[in-house]
Amino acid sequence: MPDVIVVGAGVAGLACAADLSGAGVDVLVLEARERIGGRVLTHRPADGGPPLELGAQIVHGDRNPAHTLLGALPAAPRPQSASVVLGRVARPMAVLARGPHAPWLLEGRLVRYEDDASPGGLSADAWLARSGAGDAERAVAGEWLRQTWAADPASLDAAAVALAMRQDPGGQGEFIVPGGMDRIPAALAEGVEVRTGTPVHRIERDADEVRVVTGEGVLTARQVVVAVPPAVVDRGLLEIGGLDADRREAARTLRPGDGFVAVATLSAPAPASVSVFDADGVSGFLSCVQGRPEVLVVAKGAAARYLRTAVSGGQLGGLIAVALPWTRTAEVTGVEVADWGADPYAGGAFCAPGPGTADAARIWARPTDDGRLFFTGEAAVAGRALPWMQGAIADGRRAADDVTEARKQWL
Ligand SMILES: Cc1cc2nc3c(=O)[nH]c(=O)nc-3n(C[C@H](O)[C@H](O)[C@H](O)COP(=O)(O)OP(=O)(O)OC[C@H]3O[C@@H](n4cnc5c(N)ncnc54)[C@H](O)[C@@H]3O)c2cc1C
Repeated sequence: MPDVIVVGAGVAGLACAADLSGAGVDVLVLEARERIGGRVLTHRPADGGPPLELGAQIVHGDRNPAHTLLGALPAAPRPQSASVVLGRVARPMAVLARGPHAPWLLEGRLVRYEDDASPGGLSADAWLARSGAGDAERAVAGEWLRQTWAADPASLDAAAVALAMRQDPGGQGEFIVPGGMDRIPAALAEGVEVRTGTPVHRIERDADEVRVVTGEGVLTARQVVVAVPPAVVDRGLLEIGGLDADRREAARTLRPGDGFVAVATLSAPAPASVSVFDADGVSGFLSCVQGRPEVLVVAKGAAARYLRTAVSGGQLGGLIAVALPWTRTAEVTGVEVADWGADPYAGGAFCAPGPGTADAARIWARPTDDGRLFFTGEAAVAGRALPWMQGAIADGRRAADDVTEARKQWL
């Protein structure tokens, strides 16, 4: 019997397991899918072209913990490509993208916002209304926030967004991972025993042990770390015996926003590298790389729903063509998707800072009083830190410390 079972091989569960294993603890990680990485998912084109990311896209910050994991082949600054803000109705787009109320500049101002009355203070929508930006500029900035946070600006807590960004120790800059983002979970999993294809259905505990029920039987451990999204528990896919009402309520609150990512392969290569932000909320962010036949579409919120419908209705080519005119004369020859909103083991993209999120995250992250059950993942930091990879990795390490502290009573 292992000392500790970690349920879920996303970056949080793997970071937790790696730290425990490094400290000499016997750890086993159980993962429902046939792969590790969770919401880090890399697609590799059949012709050996550069990988494309269907989950986490960017390493945010030059002090992101991901950098130390990448060793000899480090993350590289995100290449600059021609950027376009797409709007279907007549709007002075050049002005919106370059003027003082460009969405990224408004977001930068939002980061400096401090609200003594938080939590439950101003929404990002209400903050935008006070920003001095005009209606069209506000609409564009609102969509920018929706795509960044996978949440409607009306349900984003402005002070919590600002706090999470200000407190992030990750530093500056945006980086991509040569060879694919999935090198990060792979590095964390080195030397850790992981059993994939093993969904956990139920966790029960008594004074002596924790029992983990999988399709293949029951495993026991002294301690268990739950590193699955709370949405998995809320939906009943993973039952946890004796879960208190506060934690159940927290799981309900920590609902990730919708996300859908598609890679379309076309019959012709892109003539130039371009990134498009769809300000109308139809297709999120689209990008292509000069000389490559793929178009990557990363959509959240309502745009995720439009993209999902376009893919299932065979209209992805039409949707892309509005943003990237060069694709009009090409055919879509292949489509690869990750539907995070419909994925039972994710429940969505990630948890944005909304009203009540920080309190729910604190409750979710709290170990049980008997020192047997621990909880980690991006949702455990939502509303307090960035619910992205750096938050998940740091929280996995925090959970490992909690486990170690609780183990002292048995040693
Ligand atoms: C479209 C998209 C874009 C993103 N962009 C970025 C970005 O640019 N930069 C960034 O830093 N972050 C980004 N993120 C967020 C980032 O991917 C997540 O914050 C992070 O990967 C979460 O890690 P985690 O370990 O907390 O959860 P997960 O990765 O979800 O890991 C949980 C694991 O638990 C497993 N599991 C679930 N249920 C069970 C069960 N019953 N039994 C066993 N195993 C189970 C799952 O299969 C999964 O492997 C993005 C996410 C998405 C979806």
